[in-house]
Amino acid sequence: MASTLSRPDRYALVGHPVEHSRSPLIHRLFARQTGQPMTYELIDAEPPSFETAVRGFFAAGGLGMNVTVPHKGAAYELSAEVSERANAARAVNTLSMPDGVLRGDNTDGVGFIRDVTVNQHQAIAGRTVLVLGAGGAARGVIGPLLEAGPAELVLANRTLERAQDVVEQFRGIGGGLTAVAFAELPARGAFDVVINATSAGLHGDAAPFPGSLVTPETFCYDMVYSLRETPFVEWAKTHGARRAVQGWGMLVEQAAESFFIWRGLRPDTAAILKQLVR
Ligand code: NAP
Repeated sequence: MASTLSRPDRYALVGHPVEHSRSPLIHRLFARQTGQPMTYELIDAEPPSFETAVRGFFAAGGLGMNVTVPHKGAAYELSAEVSERANAARAVNTLSMPDGVLRGDNTDGVGFIRDVTVNQHQAIAGRTVLVLGAGGAARGVIGPLLEAGPAELVLANRTLERAQDVVEQFRGIGGGLTAVAFAELPARGAFDVVINATSAGLHGDAAPFPGSLVTPETFCYDMVYSLRETPFVEWAKTHGARRAVQGWGMLVEQAAESFFIWRGLRPDTAAILKQLVR
């Protein structure tokens, strides 16, 4: 870590596009809150230049990187060592270089679970849970969700094969995980918890899910976040769900876990979350 006389330690987010990211603000608030001498910059890299951007950043003395769309899979491949949770997700969103070895981790799953259970006070144990989507974000939360002991965990995806691959990958880790196609959802009835891990609806179209998935008691969680109502939250409320929240808390909690990996300190996320959505 930097001494008070040396330059601040450097961290960065690499992705494409990255210009609207809130991560620099979140890490700046963490650093100020915990008194850490560090900077956090944005690196816009298209897929062909991803590896060069990562290697160049660490070669120039950078200490850690977050990785976002579309590079989480490439970061997993590039890492010389990966954590167990990154291996389960087959995606890396946090890079560090302890002892000169590029190490990949995935903090999305733990960030999601912390937001749902600690910030939103929702239990997973014993409840029926539906995850919509089977991309990187969904894969990151399946392991932590299974560990939390749901009564049933259903994974639905537009492309059924992708959901089936995930179920196959997690076979043996925990029971009760099944894959279904979106077309089968109307026959499934309502769930206690419905999680949107798709990017459906982001281009102005309505979220393509049947209203029968929710009752007023269903807790609906959208991994997507926006300063306006997201299409999924709008869909959930239209169909009567009393509790439907966006993924701001997941964003802050996954960042806090990255910060912990890099600096060994846990920021007070509740205070930062309040500042961010104000
Ligand atoms: P991804 O790997 O590209 O996966 C996208 C998923 O969305 C796939 O399951 C895809 O289905 C589905 N999808 C896309 N368009 C659809 C449509 N029109 N109708 C139905 N399904 C559709 O993306 P990701 O990394 O998993 O991210 C998913 C979302 O989570 C993004 O919006 C991202 O911003 C958000 N996220 C938030 C946080 C946070 O901290 N809050 C963290 C990570 C991700 P197919 O397989 O059929 O293509």
